[in-house]
Amino acid sequence: MEQLKWHQMGTSELLDSLGSSQDSGLKPSAAAERLEKHGHNELSEGERISPIILLLNQFKDFMVLILMGATLISGLLGEYLDAITIVAIIVLNAVLGFLQEFRAERSLRALKELSAPSAKVIRGGELVTVAAKDLVTGDIVYLESGDRVPADLRFIEANSCYIEESALTGESVPVGKHAAVIGEEELPLGDQRNIGFMGTMVTRGTARGVVIRTGMATEMGKIAGLIQETESMETPLQHRLEQLGKLLIVVAIGLTVMVVVAGILHGQPAYGMFLAGVSLAVAAIPEGLPAIVTIALALGVQRMIKRKAIVRKLPSVETLGCASVICSDKTGTLTQNKMTVTHVWIGGRKLEVSGEGYDPTGAIYEDGKALDLKNDQSIKRLLQISALCNNAVLVRSEPEEQKRRKSKEPQPEWTLKGDPTEGALTVLATKLGSSAKSLEALYQRVKEFPFDSERKRMSVLLSHQGGRLLCTKGAPDMLMEQCAYVLWDGKVVPFTNTLKRKCAEAGEVMALSALRVLGFAYRDLRSTERCETEAEAENNLIFVGLAGMIDPPRREVKDAIATCRRAGIKTVMITGDHQLTAEAIAGQLGIMPRGGIAMSGRQLEAMDDEQLDRLVDNTYVYARVSPEHKLRIVKALQRKGHVVAMTGDGVNDAPAIKAADIGISMGITGTDVSKEASALVLSDDNFSTIVAAIEEGRGIYENIRKFIRYLLASNVGEILVMFLAMMAGLPLPLVPIQILWVNLVTDGLPAMALGVDQAEKDLMQQKPRSAKENIFARRLGWKIISRGVLIGICTLGAFWITLREGGGTAEGLMKAQTVAFATLVMAQLIHVFDCRSSRSIFHRNPFQNKYLVLAVLSSLLLMLGVLYIEALQPIFKTVPIGFREWCLVFVAAGIPTFVMGIGSVLGKSGKTKTNSKWPLGPQSVAR
Ligand code: ATP
Repeated sequence: MEQLKWHQMGTSELLDSLGSSQDSGLKPSAAAERLEKHGHNELSEGERISPIILLLNQFKDFMVLILMGATLISGLLGEYLDAITIVAIIVLNAVLGFLQEFRAERSLRALKELSAPSAKVIRGGELVTVAAKDLVTGDIVYLESGDRVPADLRFIEANSCYIEESALTGESVPVGKHAAVIGEEELPLGDQRNIGFMGTMVTRGTARGVVIRTGMATEMGKIAGLIQETESMETPLQHRLEQLGKLLIVVAIGLTVMVVVAGILHGQPAYGMFLAGVSLAVAAIPEGLPAIVTIALALGVQRMIKRKAIVRKLPSVETLGCASVICSDKTGTLTQNKMTVTHVWIGGRKLEVSGEGYDPTGAIYEDGKALDLKNDQSIKRLLQISALCNNAVLVRSEPEEQKRRKSKEPQPEWTLKGDPTEGALTVLATKLGSSAKSLEALYQRVKEFPFDSERKRMSVLLSHQGGRLLCTKGAPDMLMEQCAYVLWDGKVVPFTNTLKRKCAEAGEVMALSALRVLGFAYRDLRSTERCETEAEAENNLIFVGLAGMIDPPRREVKDAIATCRRAGIKTVMITGDHQLTAEAIAGQLGIMPRGGIAMSGRQLEAMDDEQLDRLVDNTYVYARVSPEHKLRIVKALQRKGHVVAMTGDGVNDAPAIKAADIGISMGITGTDVSKEASALVLSDDNFSTIVAAIEEGRGIYENIRKFIRYLLASNVGEILVMFLAMMAGLPLPLVPIQILWVNLVTDGLPAMALGVDQAEKDLMQQKPRSAKENIFARRLGWKIISRGVLIGICTLGAFWITLREGGGTAEGLMKAQTVAFATLVMAQLIHVFDCRSSRSIFHRNPFQNKYLVLAVLSSLLLMLGVLYIEALQPIFKTVPIGFREWCLVFVAAGIPTFVMGIGSVLGKSGKTKTNSKWPLGPQSVAR
């Protein structure tokens, strides 16, 4: 009953009943106790597959069932040795399959944890970020636009806060929230305007609330079962391979039946043929394929994590390799997001500021002379707005190292909590003696109209002894539109067009040298004046001046952009910043080619889709854009056939991130909403991480092609040798147990090692592949069939030669079968090195992939064991073979590689053209 009344309580009642405090929140120890008592703030998950079920699932496989049937028949016929060996192989197979799937499942789960949401809370008086699942009742949580509400909260403060609650209330329009008491007792959820519900999202504004319910006790928890999203973790390729697998089953069974019938017609014993047929079917079906694909994907995804790219949606790993355009934010992704104000312009005066980074020491100069600010009211006003219309906090911390050494003169290290743009202004104000602390006693913040990327400005309403003051800062071109006056030579004068032009020009001069420019304005409010909405507040302002801040490009980005260009991927900058700033930085980074276009949000708005489509291929910079423009850009690029990777961090970026082929969000500065919409999270917010992810994406796809090539060519070879022998009326070239052995040892281990193969050197010098490309494209199908046929014929040849020499004796047959077995194994083990390159075996260092060398060596040793260990010979029906036979084995096994090598030299087969075309036209990318 109590819980229904949270909305009726006043702040102090609320905090008392939850044992919390508005300013210092819960003590960490109290929070830990509550967590222990009430459990994590999580919605209970759907059932996880237990390892035992996973293991049992392995035996449900169709082919395993056939094998088990065969075992039963062998057992009934008294062939106990056969039956036991088959059982051993089935168990081994199941264990391998289980290990593969278990590992894949575990890494997928670890991935989910990595992208788990966090929350900003006050604990013990400090603002800290904790995992959302560690929230407890009584925690004071801060929310801002783009955050997902991490638990049920009762608001104690709300600034223009709007929350989208459609998942809970069905109300599709975001609702305004407040912190006032609501008297009524019974209220539908939609009317509980002072409560924030877990899982809903903040679309605008900021708020502070105290946690009243967590986990399954929340409103969302009550309906958790209904809304839990189950996102498909299967990639299109996995899906296609599954279908291919089904087709191959039919083909393999058809061929096996033909082999069995042909064998029986040629006088082979029915039981022997049945067992051979079953083994052949088992061997021919690449049942391990899906598991190896999953492993290759999962391991690739883990390599990506090491390179700071977290994959949220597995299918995007495939799409990454197809990306032909990367649309990137500027601030923080291409640049360092470490801003320092270097220039100030005020009423026609050009000033320079000294000092570096966040260290608040420095001075302001006019014509090279340091200024005394005591009597300079204009600059003081600008500093006042910088300090008060600001949420960033500068923190001085001694480096741990120095603390330990107790050095006499520890160098202070300054860090920033909050938005770097605001941080730069905090530093400016502190540097010049107008820190927020020094103004705190004089001005109290009454209200905030938070920054958003549509208005591109922020305001605060302050009360002071003399009345009320509104301070605003924002993008100068847009802020000037709200100003009627300007502070010029210390006086407030009308903001005439001439003066406006002067201000605009000053801003452009700063922007041309890659500075990010902010404008400042203020006005005093009459006591009767209403100031509830932004529209009521932000008008008739007095323009004060401009501050220009540097934000240096990230060092590694220029190279990454050059890599993209070589890889046929176009880089486009999309930013809310001024066009000239954007162009200057694009120039420094090599984004903009000669003749490339920079477009502003206004120009974009004035165009229809057709006009945009005509320009989109040659546009490299979009400036002063709003989030909805991003969606149009993505769509236009997609219409032109591009596969688009798009970054975003704000709440309004989510639609564009979702619409992009690869939506990318920022791990550090990104909002929850943008992260949830994205397929890839950059844990370091860095552009070059996108390029690394694309490289991995391409590598993973090529590795999948490599082991498909290996596995299927092996299977074709195995079927063909049996098929041709039966058609030619020859005895069985391989006994069933040998076929199963080849399938398990020779096929399995090296294929897995191929899945983690290093990428070829020129991987990032090729055009992106088409998203519609068939896995067998680029002659892979031909390579599989031709190699399979060659392996089949050569194995059969070696068998036939040895058989003829044996003179028809039983021992001669066993020797011939052993030679065929050794030839097949050797041919495959040579082939596996061929598969590493799209060209030929000689193209790459065969010892580079250590796993592969190990897999091949162990396969080889195991084969030798089967041949030469006496105890194993009767099981595997082998006899030891001598030097002459080995020569035959090596020649027969080497022929396929030799023939294909000559073929590739003659036909330059498989050579992919490198892409040196620039700028990249739409024609160069097939979709
Ligand atoms: P990107 O999309 O590349 O990250 P951005 O971060 O520069 O671009 P926005 O954050 O939308 O884009 O900023 C656009 C403009 O709004 C800036 O050029 C600046 O003038 C202004 N601005 C940015 N941050 C603030 C802020 N905290 N308060 C007021 N104005 C701001």
